[in-house]
Amino acid sequence: MRYHLKTYGCQMNSHDSEYLAGVLEAFGWLPSSAGEADFVLLNTCSVRDNAEQKARSLLGKLRRRKLSQPALAIAVLGCMGERTRCQLEKQAEIDLTLGPRQLEEFPDRLRQLHQEREWPLPVEEPVAIPYRRTQGVTASVNITLGCNSFCSYCVVPLVRGREASRPPEEVSREVAEAVSCGFPEVLLLGQNVNSYGREWSGWDLGRLLQLLHPMPGLVRIRTMTSHPRDFPLSLVEQIADLPKVCEHFHLPLQSGSDRLLQAMNRGYTRTQYLSLVQAIRTRFPRASITTDLIVGYPLEEEADFLDTLQLMEEVRFDNAHILTYSPRPGTAAYPLGDPIPKGEKARRLSLLMEAHQIHALERNQALVGETVEVLVEERDPRSGKMYGRTGSDKAVYFPGEEAWIGSLRAVQVETAAAWSLLGIV
Ligand code: SF4
Repeated sequence: MRYHLKTYGCQMNSHDSEYLAGVLEAFGWLPSSAGEADFVLLNTCSVRDNAEQKARSLLGKLRRRKLSQPALAIAVLGCMGERTRCQLEKQAEIDLTLGPRQLEEFPDRLRQLHQEREWPLPVEEPVAIPYRRTQGVTASVNITLGCNSFCSYCVVPLVRGREASRPPEEVSREVAEAVSCGFPEVLLLGQNVNSYGREWSGWDLGRLLQLLHPMPGLVRIRTMTSHPRDFPLSLVEQIADLPKVCEHFHLPLQSGSDRLLQAMNRGYTRTQYLSLVQAIRTRFPRASITTDLIVGYPLEEEADFLDTLQLMEEVRFDNAHILTYSPRPGTAAYPLGDPIPKGEKARRLSLLMEAHQIHALERNQALVGETVEVLVEERDPRSGKMYGRTGSDKAVYFPGEEAWIGSLRAVQVETAAAWSLLGIV
């Protein structure tokens, strides 16, 4: 029996899909293309309307296919599974719906589907479900689930629920398992990793990093995502004593205007954001700082937009995910509508993209002639060169051997483009 699992959206969803694929394969399913699959699963994202539209469009095609192939099973999982559950459950062609916080029910619901449809069950009951990790040398591990921040534009707290930290021993066990399976790098994931351990006294992200750092075989630790509001300067100092923790700080800014930061309920000002960047760059001169930005928030005026552009000029981000505002039902900003015309949003987006490209190129060009440490990931099929990333998350291409995959190499940077570096070992 064959399954096809389509994932939309963020790193958290990709990691959830590694779990879902692990369960399916423990039940004897094999991956396949959508066209050949007996069971198609959509792990959906509701953060932006266009991610939902793409999932709806695939769902429409699957519905039509089910008319001629009634045995086809369809599941809608993840954020849409939560946000639009009532509508989805009324649709007879959808066999299974689960929100992101219910995925632990997936093995039981899958077993139920096997029984109802008389699909063969595995001879031995799967005991521990291994993640089907798909990210080369990096194993993602959730450390917090959900979010309490309620940024005015964001649907995540509504679909992923309130924030909860995973116990340190559970995180440590999962990291050790990943390392023993050959993953030298872990990515500690959470909507806001900086709030880790808030529910227990004496625990925070710094202490978790200190706990994991000595683990033999663990070469690098990454984290994603940090909320600038919750990033204490003491954490910058703690990280300085932990060389396995990567010098990559993803600090979503969203807007450079204090007025909009307040309207978005972000909890920091541009001055506070700049002080954090300054503290990081003073302690880690080679660190990369990346961000997320929204253009066209309903209250954004030209002056707010110019504040964002000006702050970008000041910080000079190594990378930025810049997206136009997308109204999401249920959020505090939804009643404000989407008043900024598409063309105006596109103009602002392209100005930010232009500035961003100049900064990224400039940051990469500063590395030409330097030697960077690269964790080798794969052979790039297009160029035939080996590919890997620096601790600061720069993509580096260089001639080399596949036997190097999973190891660190010192690469001298010869040329730089905005999004990648070329060099020799
Ligand atoms: S911190 Fe804000 S933007 Fe990030 S997931 Fe939480 S509510 Fe959404």
